[in-house]
Amino acid sequence: NKQIVLASRPEGAPSREDFKFIDAPLPEPDAGQVLVRTLYLSVDPYMRGRMKDTKSYAPPYALNEVIKGGTIGQVVESSEPNLRKGDLVSGMWGWQQYAAVNTGDISLIDTEEAPITAYLGALGMTGLTAYFGMEDIGKPKDGETVVVSGAAGAVGMIAGQIAKIVGARVIGIAGSDEKCAYLKEKLGFDVVLNYKHEEDMSAAIERACPAGVDVYFDNVGGEISDAVLRHINRNARIPLCGQISSYNLEKPDIGMRPQTLLLTNTALMKGFLVGDYAKSFKEGRAKLAKWIKEGHIQFEENIVEGFDQTPEAFMGLFSGDNLGKQLVKVADP
Ligand code: NDP
Repeated sequence: NKQIVLASRPEGAPSREDFKFIDAPLPEPDAGQVLVRTLYLSVDPYMRGRMKDTKSYAPPYALNEVIKGGTIGQVVESSEPNLRKGDLVSGMWGWQQYAAVNTGDISLIDTEEAPITAYLGALGMTGLTAYFGMEDIGKPKDGETVVVSGAAGAVGMIAGQIAKIVGARVIGIAGSDEKCAYLKEKLGFDVVLNYKHEEDMSAAIERACPAGVDVYFDNVGGEISDAVLRHINRNARIPLCGQISSYNLEKPDIGMRPQTLLLTNTALMKGFLVGDYAKSFKEGRAKLAKWIKEGHIQFEENIVEGFDQTPEAFMGLFSGDNLGKQLVKVADP
């Protein structure tokens, strides 16, 4: 049973040395537990935050403990009445090939609804993040201008498409021409900007948004967000979803202070955590599943093969290796 533990807290960008592979004995499930075999695991930007020893909404990962995160697996041993051998389940047991997990900590996956990997992406945490950020804070309307940063990532591509469904004009910001082409040609984004090619991001936003910005779904923070915020309209809404550009910084990056712009435009900037919407996950998932079925939402997954590639897949999030949800395939069902 191979496991990956946090060997050291990364300084700056995470590196392979921060992770250690361990060969542990196969766990024996206690009463109330089942043994699961990992099929797919999720690597996510928020995990970088948990590698720091600082107070946040989720506790820091302990050194030399298995890195926990979204996982999909198959029950291989169960004496519990509600779960049978062969059942497909999702949970948070993380970066290990096998785990003994409490039945209350896992949910059965409905394979009729979507391919299993979708439960770590479009119908999982990242899809739900896009859904609640838009539904509860962004609230895009027909004809409004919506800007999404990190637009070709797992959250961003769903957020942009949700805005398209209501008839908004959607501008996506991403870090490669391939990603931009995908957003424009496959997903129908109205304008795409490759921030790595734009010398003056603020001017690019101004050109892309002649009527100003009504909603800015922020996945990245930093200079990209400074540029977008300069162009917000009266009563703009800004769901603060992520700030990935700052996760590897050793010193805080101050940048522009947007308070005056928020004030004079009576704008709402609100941070949110998807976990706080847990009571409504069922409703959100049903809505997303319906849109996927109707073809209003498409999504992409970047699947790396092999448990041993997990640290690389995680590190790749910070160099933009992924188009869509980054997953690691560990085994076949
Ligand atoms: P993504 O699939 O978007 O992967 C990360 C992407 O971020 C990369 O592909 C890269 O794309 C981009 N990126 C990396 N570094 C930078 C940088 N310095 N500047 C600009 N872009 C960068 O990840 P997710 O969709 O899972 O997450 C997106 C954001 O949402 C993250 O900030 C994450 O922390 C946040 N999040 C928040 C949640 C909440 O509850 N609030 C829940 C889930 C995610 P590119 O090639 O375009 O640079």
